[in-house]
Amino acid sequence: MRTKTQPDDIQNYLTDASNMPGGHAEKLLVPDSADDVASVLREANASGTPVTLCGARTGTVGGAVPFGGVVLSLEKLVGIEIDREQRIATVGAGVILGDLQKAVDREGLFYPPDPTEWSCQIGGNIATNASGSRSFKYGATREYVRALRVVLATGDILSIRRGEFIADRDGVLAVRTDKGAAIEIKVPTYERPDVRKNVSGYYNANGLDAVDLFIGSEGTLGVIVEAELSLLEKPKGFFSGIVFFPDEANLLAFVDEVRTASRKHPVVIAPGSDKRADGGVCVPIDATLLEYFDANSLKLISEKFPETPSGMAGAIFFEQETTAENEDALLGLWNELLQKHNAADSASWFTTNEQDLEKMREFRHALPVTVNERVVRNKQKKIGTDMAVPDDKFASFLRFYKEILESSGIEFVVFGHIGDSHLHANLLPKNEEEATRSRHIYGRCIAQAIMLGGCVSAEHGIGKLKRNYLAAMMGERYLNEMAEVKRALDPKGILGRGNVFSEAYLTA
Ligand SMILES: Cc1cc2nc3c(=O)[nH]c(=O)nc-3n(C[C@H](O)[C@H](O)[C@H](O)COP(=O)(O)OP(=O)(O)OC[C@H]3O[C@@H](n4cnc5c(N)ncnc54)[C@H](O)[C@@H]3O)c2cc1C
Repeated sequence: MRTKTQPDDIQNYLTDASNMPGGHAEKLLVPDSADDVASVLREANASGTPVTLCGARTGTVGGAVPFGGVVLSLEKLVGIEIDREQRIATVGAGVILGDLQKAVDREGLFYPPDPTEWSCQIGGNIATNASGSRSFKYGATREYVRALRVVLATGDILSIRRGEFIADRDGVLAVRTDKGAAIEIKVPTYERPDVRKNVSGYYNANGLDAVDLFIGSEGTLGVIVEAELSLLEKPKGFFSGIVFFPDEANLLAFVDEVRTASRKHPVVIAPGSDKRADGGVCVPIDATLLEYFDANSLKLISEKFPETPSGMAGAIFFEQETTAENEDALLGLWNELLQKHNAADSASWFTTNEQDLEKMREFRHALPVTVNERVVRNKQKKIGTDMAVPDDKFASFLRFYKEILESSGIEFVVFGHIGDSHLHANLLPKNEEEATRSRHIYGRCIAQAIMLGGCVSAEHGIGKLKRNYLAAMMGERYLNEMAEVKRALDPKGILGRGNVFSEAYLTA
């Protein structure tokens, strides 16, 4: 295990993609094995030293940013084993998502979770239940996790497999560590909002599975050291397009139609039951992703992609699996739909070839990257929303976004996962006065989302930056229920201090 104490060696581990300032730590520890992790935690627990877990630090809410104590980086846990027959990957927490995707691809298999940023680590993905564009069809990371190996704050190791530890009717989840110690956890009682994506606070459910509790727990309940993941057969091909619309009402009607048609064909993940597009020519519209760019996003992106057509109200990036047999029929179907909704089809881009699809994904990725660069250039903090609302409230929420943002006079973009009724509005303030107003606008958007029955974070998590919003969504009672979960697994509150809720709840 490496230990670093020199400021130069630690510097990069003191912040994440949120650029949250003020991070500091006494040392950085880089364990080589789960046993190393266990011994670090045993010692830290004995001395009450805070431990902040970090993956690749691509998180956007300060979850990996330490404020004292030690930083534990999982970057050395990089084993990948693939069972081609069973379609299962067993991976160390530090495996980079892009590396896993390449390894899986070489086996003719497919790991769908794709948070557009491929440099993140699997442990970080699980800890945030990362999702992204393709979650529209394939779901978030949670759907693919079959088993976890977790080191608890006490240094005890917990190996859990789906179906093994399930909460009872009284909402008590009893787990057993590898050495046989029993831990009882009271499952929180809040109702989950009726949204397609939600990572606001600990996951709960009737009959909660212990695996699900750790997914999305943002480094506060245990250190994920290894995971067993389900894989799918690799699709034969994809038909993809970035389609520009001169009129927003047409764009929204197009999205509605594709969304409704696609939801009739959910993917089945269990081994042996891979559901695919029909091999024949008679195929339905069944998008794997449906992403939105507003007019401002297109303007910003044209700095990196000058071929972006100008004067458009917005664009949609879509994709659907194809086979050689159904490709022509599918192209015809999408073409009909685009004409029906008055897309600017001659200005739009379509492809069935992997290289061009890669370019389209780069186009999509260029947006958050350009936003982050602009924020740094303006010497301001990014103010980006991550709320999701119920489908039937989406149109009114989008109208609210546009009205409040346009009347502010502050530069902004709205983009993202429109298929899941989940968009990111990013405000790009140029000075302190605009930054203050942006924060007020952000607060009003949060209030509106909560009022519409939505959640404050659909995919980025709460971390340290959004815990006041989680408090507004949940209220005292449910924050206390979450704190009780944490106390059961981490009695001294050493892990991920300051993430999800304030430390004050841990001493309550
Ligand atoms: C340009 C850009 C675009 C993005 N787009 C998306 C998107 O579309 N969808 C999406 O979901 N996210 C998106 N993200 C956010 C980010 O990529 C994810 O949150 C990612 O899953 C975090 O992984 P990481 O390895 O970087 O974790 P980190 O940022 O290092 O950590 C994230 C959290 O996980 C905890 N953690 C890390 N490793 C472990 C572990 N082994 N055990 C327990 N806890 C751990 C940390 O303590 C922290 O709380 C984007 C980020 C960027 C920069």
